[in-house]
Amino acid sequence: MPPLRMLYSRFTSCSGCQLTLLNCEGELATLAEAVEVAGFSMATSRCDDGGPVEIALVEGSISRTAELEELLGLRRRARYLVAVGACALTGGVNVLGEGDREVLIGQVYGPGLEGESFPPQPVSRFVRVDLELAGCPPEPGDYLRLLGSLARGGLPELPTYPVCMEC
Ligand code: SF4
Repeated sequence: MPPLRMLYSRFTSCSGCQLTLLNCEGELATLAEAVEVAGFSMATSRCDDGGPVEIALVEGSISRTAELEELLGLRRRARYLVAVGACALTGGVNVLGEGDREVLIGQVYGPGLEGESFPPQPVSRFVRVDLELAGCPPEPGDYLRLLGSLARGGLPELPTYPVCMEC
């Protein structure tokens, strides 16, 4: 079976979800045999060629017009679009900011983004999401099950986690 072409894209997020995958050091060599990385800025200097991919992993919420355009392009390219982590699934911590939004944007991004940003939104607000990898960040085992199942031509059974658990 040829390796799956996979792309990892990061939007408004802390990068913790991609670091969790990169920290699966013992399994990355095995994964590399099953997956061809078409783009993953934190993991490879290879430039994304813009071609079709089997899997687009999407981290982060969408809060800028440029991110939205990129997301729509990813949806057209990907067979499976996977929302990774709480930011992508729900908006995550990005929606918790309080106070004047313009001041917050200036503090986070610096000047020049006025008019190009909007309140953070989950990925599913804009595109169809095929699979969801929950967590903040996701469990490493869930990541590996997801990619392993897709590499074998199947679909993973992913757990859902409660937001709060009673003690
Ligand atoms: Fe960071 Fe959590 Fe968002 Fe992942 S879900 S990018 S770990 S804040």
